[in-house]
Amino acid sequence: YTGKTGSQLFNERMKKLTVKEFQSIPVVVEESASVYDAICTMFLEDVGTLFVVNKRKHLIGIVSRKDLLRASMGKQDLESVPVSIIMTRMPNVTTCHPSDSMLEVANKLIGKQIDGLPVVKEVETDGEIHHEVIGRLTKTNITKAFVFIADDDIHS
Ligand code: ADP
Repeated sequence: YTGKTGSQLFNERMKKLTVKEFQSIPVVVEESASVYDAICTMFLEDVGTLFVVNKRKHLIGIVSRKDLLRASMGKQDLESVPVSIIMTRMPNVTTCHPSDSMLEVANKLIGKQIDGLPVVKEVETDGEIHHEVIGRLTKTNITKAFVFIADDDIHS
């Protein structure tokens, strides 16, 4: 018997699980897309957060459900407002990496009070660092990791 408490064991397991094992497919829109297009994409793809990319597919921002609701409360024509003017813009977007632990990411979601993060890979072009979106990590993925640990315990 190791003498470890249940929460120490849980903490250790959660630290060992990584983003790449639990991440989902990212859903992106181009910066020129309208707020109307973004609402349609969010419904059709059944996600709560969209990542906004430029023509070179580099991450430039993020839009959430509430961002789109807020934009819809005004009297603007939603088809003529680009998402790029309502999004949360880089460098203010919190991101994560495939090798990050699920515990680290859970702490970021709670700390920043957000629902999800883009999983990114840094790429250097012409001496500049850009972020390529390779995945999506949400509270649902954290819940899946939680259930994975609990189920594993029952079966072992
Ligand atoms: P919702 O607004 O639908 O409740 P969130 O809580 O995730 O969804 O988003 C709250 C605010 O934080 C929004 O304005 C959104 O643009 C912003 N946001 C969402 N995800 C991130 C992130 N990963 N990094 C920075 N800001 C974010």
